[in-house]
Amino acid sequence: MRRLVVEGAYVATVDRSSREFDGGHVVVDDSRIVAVGDGPAPAWAVEGRMPGGGSGSGSVSGSVSVERVDARGHLLTPGLINTHHHLYQWLTRGIAQDSILFDWLVALYPTWARIDEPLVEAGAAAALAVLARSGCTTVGDHHYVFPQGSGDILAGIVRAAGAVGVRLHATRGSMDLGSSQGGLPPDFAVETTDAALLASADAVERFHDPSADARVQIAIAPCSPFSVTSDLLREAAVLGRSLGVRLHTHGSETVEEDAFCLERFGRTPTQYLEDLGWLGDDVWMAHCVHLDDHAISRFAATGTGVAHCPSSNARLAAGIAPVPQLLRAGVPVGLGVDGSASNESGQLGSEIRQAVLLNRLRAGADGFSVRDGLGLATIGGARVLGRERDLGSIEVGKLADLALWRIDGVEFAGIADPVAALGLGALPPVARLWVGGETVVDGGALAGADEGLLAEAAARASRELAARV
Ligand code: ZN
Repeated sequence: MRRLVVEGAYVATVDRSSREFDGGHVVVDDSRIVAVGDGPAPAWAVEGRMPGGGSGSGSVSGSVSVERVDARGHLLTPGLINTHHHLYQWLTRGIAQDSILFDWLVALYPTWARIDEPLVEAGAAAALAVLARSGCTTVGDHHYVFPQGSGDILAGIVRAAGAVGVRLHATRGSMDLGSSQGGLPPDFAVETTDAALLASADAVERFHDPSADARVQIAIAPCSPFSVTSDLLREAAVLGRSLGVRLHTHGSETVEEDAFCLERFGRTPTQYLEDLGWLGDDVWMAHCVHLDDHAISRFAATGTGVAHCPSSNARLAAGIAPVPQLLRAGVPVGLGVDGSASNESGQLGSEIRQAVLLNRLRAGADGFSVRDGLGLATIGGARVLGRERDLGSIEVGKLADLALWRIDGVEFAGIADPVAALGLGALPPVARLWVGGETVVDGGALAGADEGLLAEAAARASRELAARV
């Protein structure tokens, strides 16, 4: 058995009681947390013995290898959970820099329609590397562009997550409403309804792991009300529920989307999506910027989750989501980077600060705290992805997905509160990142992949994609 003993850190557990220990310990046996508390680790932990008072306790086991980490000068948090991304967009950043969502999409669709499996794998690996180095251990990806003859794109994303070492909640997205039918994407970027449904079922069959320790799960994710037919939305929800997987889409991102739904369906996006079976505790929706009181009450009553993407919403001037109201109503809310083409930083850790700053513009200085931000990025994200039993907080029995932030550098000298250092200061370097007790980042660098090679491959793929247009 492999045991990890972390001592001396400021431990922000994000558990139900929001316990924090200044100089606490965490003990991990193989992939799960077996002890958390104040002060040094108990003697049994460091001596390689078993915990508890049962018959086996106290006996030295020769098969326990103990790694002790002196974490003084560090903040230990749960690994961060990214609830919304489009990893392939790593290849198309810095484009349409001054556009709102619809114009930005129209500018990018022709390039995105030329992606294929190797290009997406290269872009995803680079995006995942940056996510891991910013404290992220679980990544929700929403991929919805599947050009004909582009290979097995989802398999490329799954391989990239395996190479970097993070958990992946991949979604099989889709678009079937081309511009000739009144949709936003050009016809050459969309699939048929039947092809999208067949491929979604196939993705679940091939990649979805329903187990508590899962490294890869699949959700079904038609893209948005303005790029997907009502038939596909309705049938995708039925399919997802019959297969026991979650559902994901974009919703209420912009005023233009509101206008589209009102004009075409006579409904707000939330009313329209609810008509089609798209509210429920197995659904999470990205953005939800323009929710009225009725929509918030429907999200709360149905347990529908929200992926809050503050940088992307600011980049595209979409607006400020009503996150404090959603939290007060009991809606599960997680944090999302969103696609790298509308959030070029690609870091999840710095989205905590962005969420704090953006939400205060709407809710006031005391309307959204740094600990609210950390909560979105951890337990909130776990709830949104349906993994709160196993992820999102530092508690005995949960998976050891942990981020150890170095806060003894000059950037943080003068901030006494380590959580404020993370939520208001510069993004601290990640000293160690563990996924299921395995080291993914060590000393700020990926432990299992060569970042130089990932950077070269992503740059080459980006140039090749641009040359295809
Ligand atoms: Zn998105």
